[in-house]
Amino acid sequence: MNLHKLTLREQLEGLKKNEFSSVELTSHYLERISKHDEELNSFITVTEEHALTHAKLADDRYKNNQSLPLDGLPIAHKDIFCTKGIKTTCGSKMLSDFEAPYSSTVYTKLDNMGMVMLGKTNMDEFAMGSSNETSYFGPVKNPWNKKYVPGGSSGGSASCVSAELAPIATATDTGGSIRQPASLCGLTGIKPTYGRVSRYGMIAFASSLDQGGVVARSAEDAALILEGMSGHDPKDSTSLKLEAPDLLKNLDKPIKGMKIGLPKEFFEKEMPEFVEKAIQDAIETYKHLGAEIVEVSLKNINLSLPIYYIIAPAECSANLSRYDGVRYGYRCEDPKDLEDLFMRTREEGFGSEVKRRILIGTYALSAGFYDAYYLKAQKCRQLVANDFSEAFKAVDVILSPTTPGTSFKAGEKSDDPIEMYLQDIFTIPANLAGLPGISIPCGENSGLPLGMQLVGNSLQEDKLLQFAHSYQMNTDWHKKMPNI
Ligand code: GLN
Repeated sequence: MNLHKLTLREQLEGLKKNEFSSVELTSHYLERISKHDEELNSFITVTEEHALTHAKLADDRYKNNQSLPLDGLPIAHKDIFCTKGIKTTCGSKMLSDFEAPYSSTVYTKLDNMGMVMLGKTNMDEFAMGSSNETSYFGPVKNPWNKKYVPGGSSGGSASCVSAELAPIATATDTGGSIRQPASLCGLTGIKPTYGRVSRYGMIAFASSLDQGGVVARSAEDAALILEGMSGHDPKDSTSLKLEAPDLLKNLDKPIKGMKIGLPKEFFEKEMPEFVEKAIQDAIETYKHLGAEIVEVSLKNINLSLPIYYIIAPAECSANLSRYDGVRYGYRCEDPKDLEDLFMRTREEGFGSEVKRRILIGTYALSAGFYDAYYLKAQKCRQLVANDFSEAFKAVDVILSPTTPGTSFKAGEKSDDPIEMYLQDIFTIPANLAGLPGISIPCGENSGLPLGMQLVGNSLQEDKLLQFAHSYQMNTDWHKKMPNI
């Protein structure tokens, strides 16, 4: 049986009806990983033994009628989520041997619901990147064309789900790292409202922007797992004091009469013809489903990229100061003195993109420049958030492309950071405003997939998933899978 062809929802049904066991399902994926992942490099660690033990426990619970809500379903976790006793590297030499003494809330919640971890996925170092080429553990390949990048920073998560080496994977998004790789790998990726998913045990990049979510094969699968990950966590002071929302409840409701906003600032920009066509087709589908299309203005949106590249590096320079070779992580050999220990540990332990961000961030925060850069960026961030609030008075969701185009060849943008940063031009605004965003497949060009993005008002993940699901019930883009 081709178990990997079933959706997560179908797999859960199959397990409940005892059509197959979790050990069978888990072994099936582990075999696929061992067959295909040498080439794709989507996993940093495969936790075979752990997975089979947990699958067996799930099967026992089914037998004893004590099953948990997501019992026996396999999942891959981005290697940014701490897992007690299992390596968590964040794609960096700095943490290449790090075993966290505790688990992240995301891992714990899904584990408590019975999910079976297959392994930890590859990622750009400390989640900085858009191509998964900055990982200490080597680049990840896009299953649609192995000469192309899967996007980043959650490139390993997107690559393994797209290649059907895992039915779903966790991911994180600071400026687009869930939605951009989802777009480049033909998947559905959702970043919830800031504070929906606990950041406890999720290695920090830029704390006011980082948010956990999932990459999946459909909105329905994404809803099932995002619901399990969400909810208040007293261990994260920025976690919202709200119960996990019911994300499946509205999934099948029609979107007739609801309003989709098209930001004129995005559509004024020149886009490749195939992007424009894919988006126009998606708009037609939504019109056909009874949605109303309204033009909106996000007048400060063009400031988003510069704002992000002050705030994210500033927060990263503070967060990454903890890697000093004293407490944990990599330590250089034979330091002469304390200063040499700090300097050489950081020089040897971090890759060049991480160093670039630390330098920019330290500069932006230094006395004399703080007001001109950091404070100014924070004020401008509020302007972007205000634009969204204004727009959401008139519309339910805001639609745009997710990425400027389809995937690009490995190495093509590595020497040009600005080109790389432009990958997130459509995704960053939602992070600045703390809003939920989803990317869903809506087209392709030269055999590579392309996604559209929907951004919703605060806490309206259910509405985003409803829009995504109704599109997926009427189109087949999300069903296309690469031949690996
Ligand atoms: N590509 C962006 C960056 O490098 C976003 C990364 C992310 O969302 N983690 O900062």
